[in-house]
Amino acid sequence: MISIKSEREIELLRIAGKVVGDTHHYLEPFIKPGITTAELDKLAEDYIRSRGCTPSFKGLYGFPGSVCISLNEEVVHGIPGKRKIKEGDIISIDIGACWKGYHGDSAWTYPVGKISKEKQELLEHTEKALFEGLSMIHDGAHVGDIGYAVEQYALKHHLGVVKELVGHGVGSKVHEDPDVPNYGKMHTGPVLKEGMVIAVEPMLNLGTADVFMLDDDWTVVTADDKPSAHFEHTVLVTKDGYEIMTKR
Ligand code: MG
Ligand code: MG
Repeated sequence: MISIKSEREIELLRIAGKVVGDTHHYLEPFIKPGITTAELDKLAEDYIRSRGCTPSFKGLYGFPGSVCISLNEEVVHGIPGKRKIKEGDIISIDIGACWKGYHGDSAWTYPVGKISKEKQELLEHTEKALFEGLSMIHDGAHVGDIGYAVEQYALKHHLGVVKELVGHGVGSKVHEDPDVPNYGKMHTGPVLKEGMVIAVEPMLNLGTADVFMLDDDWTVVTADDKPSAHFEHTVLVTKDGYEIMTKR
């Protein structure tokens, strides 16, 4: 069932989303060659807690980190650790924060120093694909409209669309109904209603759409080792459009 949020719930979700957006903003200057992903994770957790929230992903299904940090060919769910990031990497940071039982969820992919032209284009196109998907949202639209817009944009730019992982509803659980795939057909899937809150999160690859999971049972990587990008916002469905809750 897809829940319609009350005014009170929407207020709590706005606060959680604001902390997620602010955490991204806070972390960005630290994304420099030489820092480890564990250090970034610690900075994120301390910041989230300093705002009175808890990191939504810590312990979620047993995840060991506070945020997910995925480098280059890693698509999502990378576990923070001793690895140092280096010039030319791209780093996807997926952040969740919980305020009084309600969550915000947003991922962003950042360049580390100077990156290749093809990685730069991957980042630009994946961010644009997110906004193409969001542009379909309003009361009465279908979930399939979002996936259709993301997929068509990605295909036009010859990028692989990851299908194994999808966006989702957000509320008192990080992952609620409905699934919000990054592919689909117009006028199919559940109907969006004012007051629903969903996370839209295209994961696009420079090469094949195929992915597999590493032996750590968390990290999802591209099958051809080419880079992948991930951009995500949590949004409130409104009568005429949407409100981004995880704005930076
Ligand atoms: Mg996320
Ligand atoms: Mg999400």
